[in-house]
Amino acid sequence: MPLVVMKFGGTSVDGIRRIRNVAAKVQVETSAGNNVIVVVSAMAGRTTELSETVGNISRMFDAREFDAVVSTGENVTAGLLALALQDLGVPARSWQGWQVPVRTNSAHGAARIENIRTESIVTKFAEGMKVAVVAGFQGITQDGRISTLGRGGSDTTAVAFAAAFAAERCDIYTDVSGVYTADPRLVSRARKLNRVSYEEMLEFASLGAKVLQTRSVELAMHNKVRLRVLSSFCDGPGTLVCEEEEIMEQRAVSGVASSRNEAKVTLISVADRPGIAAAVFGLLASADVNVDMIVQNISEEGRTDITFSCPVEHVSKAEIALNEVLESGAVRYRSIVADTEVCKLSVVGIGMRSQSGVAAKMFKALADDGINILVIATSEIKISVLVDRKYMELGVQALHDAFQLDRC
Ligand code: ASP
Ligand code: MG
Repeated sequence: MPLVVMKFGGTSVDGIRRIRNVAAKVQVETSAGNNVIVVVSAMAGRTTELSETVGNISRMFDAREFDAVVSTGENVTAGLLALALQDLGVPARSWQGWQVPVRTNSAHGAARIENIRTESIVTKFAEGMKVAVVAGFQGITQDGRISTLGRGGSDTTAVAFAAAFAAERCDIYTDVSGVYTADPRLVSRARKLNRVSYEEMLEFASLGAKVLQTRSVELAMHNKVRLRVLSSFCDGPGTLVCEEEEIMEQRAVSGVASSRNEAKVTLISVADRPGIAAAVFGLLASADVNVDMIVQNISEEGRTDITFSCPVEHVSKAEIALNEVLESGAVRYRSIVADTEVCKLSVVGIGMRSQSGVAAKMFKALADDGINILVIATSEIKISVLVDRKYMELGVQALHDAFQLDRC
């Protein structure tokens, strides 16, 4: 029997009425003759609440117990949805991660799925069960402890199940109707995309579009899972995340991404010789600073400046780490300058590979609005710039207009 995976996010399962709405949507699939694996998130806000509770009881918490607590929101919604389905007469059963089991590595709080055993669920389907409701975001480590997959991890659970069970498709139901050309809260004329390639989606996700966890997109791309993002509140086909070849439209740019809370840190007058960048960024990595763009320019008299960007909330740990380096004498520099008032604007599109002039057009659009560019970084299908945070809305709008993303 054909199998589909459906995943419902926190707002979709927030309360009894919405859980019943989800059950009705699942029933549409079973009535069409499909078996269904439903992956659920915790109710909206629940995971945050649980992690704050852990923080309140113990500041230096044990990551295994953190996972034991924060994974529980999903257990509740999985059980409730199985009950709502049974109420509709649909044979359904819930599974927590360890019951499947979903095996992960032992990186508690950001664990990776290693494998999913299909037997227990397959056996139940063979006995006539129609729906397996799986608690997302969680698994079990080799040594039998509960693990969690990082925020937004239910998306990854869903894609991993779709791959493990060779599902026909994986539908991710959320509170927006798909993937947009820009954040609709910033650009009123942002348009929903009908299709987006895995690679573009990967860029959007890692640039901070919250709609899918980055890891889930990687997994989908690797396993060629047909992924759809759609709304649980209104009907519509959503956005299909698929292979490049399935996309007819040949635009240079598919969308504009923006990330508000960025910082730019510059080390002034660093020695320009082998090993310095390795030492600086090795240190930042051990301090868990999430470094994004890195720029180094030509040197003068053997000294140069190194600039990098990171999330605003990582600046103080970066400064602490860099000060320690200076005191130890490992790397010498004159000073650190941190600008915590910047944001990142990016244009993304697979069409960029074959079309020239995208950077020029982007920079001109920003210049026409008097927006100064602080740092530029590019990849094959993306151009990102840092600009003053106060220009974020203006900048996103300018780029959206320049690439005519409101037009089909
Ligand atoms: N409940 C978890 C979170 O809020 C996992 C998820 O919803 O994807 O991050
Ligand atoms: Mg999510």
